[in-house]
Amino acid sequence: MAAYDPENIFAKILMGEIPSHKLYEDDDTFAFLDIMPRTEGHALVITKEPAADLFGITPEGLGKLMAVVQALAPKIKKAVGADGVLIQQFNGAAAGQTVFHLHVHIVPIKEGVPVKPHAGDMADPDDLKATAEKIRAVLAA
Ligand code: AMP
Repeated sequence: MAAYDPENIFAKILMGEIPSHKLYEDDDTFAFLDIMPRTEGHALVITKEPAADLFGITPEGLGKLMAVVQALAPKIKKAVGADGVLIQQFNGAAAGQTVFHLHVHIVPIKEGVPVKPHAGDMADPDDLKATAEKIRAVLAA
C-alpha cells in the first residue's frame, strides 16, 4: 500500500486550495473534470478518505466511490453525446498512476473519435468550462 501525501494535488483540490471544474460532491466523494482530458467529458471521481490508491481504502469507502462512478458515468455520457464509457483506475507509477490520491477516471467514448493519451495535453480552460456546464445541466435535470 502506497503512503498517502496530504499535500498531493487532489487533496489541495478537496481543500479548495486549487481550483477545479467541480461536477459533484457528497460526504465521501468529489468529482471534477480532468485537466488533460482523453476525451470530452473525461472526469475524475476521488475519495475524501485519505487513500493513495485502491489498496489504501476500506471496502466500504470503495463501495461509496464506485457507487458515485456508477451514477455519474451515464449522465456524463449523455451530456457529451458519447456512445460508451471507459472506466480506468491506476495503481502505482509502474501502472501509470501520476497522482497518488485514489481516483477513478470516467472517459466517455464516441464511436470513431480517437482517445488521447493518458495525462497528455492540457485542455483549453474555456472548453473545460463549457463541458462542465453541459454535464452540470444533465446532473441537475
Ligand atoms: P492518474 O495517472 O490515474 O494518477 O491520473 C491523474 C489524472 O489527474 C491525469 O489524468 C491528469 O490529467 C489529472 N490531473 C492532474 N492534475 C489535475 C488537476 N489539477 N485538475 C484536474 N485533473 C488533474
